Amino acid sequence: MIVLSGVVEKLKRSLQNEMCSGCGVALKPPALYCPPCTQRFGIRKPEPLCILGESPVYTACQFNLPLKKWLYPYKFEHQTHYKGPLADLWIQYWQSLLEKQPTLIKPPVYVVPIPPRQNNPHHRPHLGPLAKTFAAMFGYPYVPHGLDWQRETEAQHTLAHKRQRWQNMAGSLATGYPAGFKQDEFSPTILLLDDIKTTGATLFEATQAFQRNQRFQETGGKCVGLTLCHLPLAFHK
Ligand SMILES: [Zn+2]
Repeated sequence: MIVLSGVVEKLKRSLQNEMCSGCGVALKPPALYCPPCTQRFGIRKPEPLCILGESPVYTACQFNLPLKKWLYPYKFEHQTHYKGPLADLWIQYWQSLLEKQPTLIKPPVYVVPIPPRQNNPHHRPHLGPLAKTFAAMFGYPYVPHGLDWQRETEAQHTLAHKRQRWQNMAGSLATGYPAGFKQDEFSPTILLLDDIKTTGATLFEATQAFQRNQRFQETGGKCVGLTLCHLPLAFHK
């Protein structure tokens, strides 16, 4: 299924006839965004935004108005036609990271999204399709249930202070690794995907859920975070 969706994605890509996903100008593959659109969406340089615990966290874009104009309708109004161009921001960023440091992310790589919130099924339904599209492009197995909530939590954006956000997340996620993963492999890399990073509390909790898993520790697994954008707490309403 994953292989098939990868083929479909690649086919779609070739049918898009090598156009910029932002403005439609002709482009040479593998680029998905032209240089002016790369700048307009604030696609970042391929380097870590920060380190959470032992895990590097990468962020494809700055949070800015052009990105918000796509992400919010996709996220809150189910305007699904933004899925492809949003996934392409991630893909372009990840391609540039792999070009710069081909040995940085060692296989086997699994893509695990932050799951929808238990007490609010309308939360993060947008993330799965985006993560799946991203995973298919790189041939990474997509594991939608790699993480699960252990208790109810408040939506992070409703909490104004950094400390509240970290307390809200602490111990809230768990993984059933290796159940649900393709196989129990040596040194797996778990690529944890989320749309927006603010304080990093959610991603950090996701890395800790894997660190608390004995089998994951024994196999020498590693976590790497990847978000679509970074929105500093100071910029929240
Ligand atoms: Zn463009």
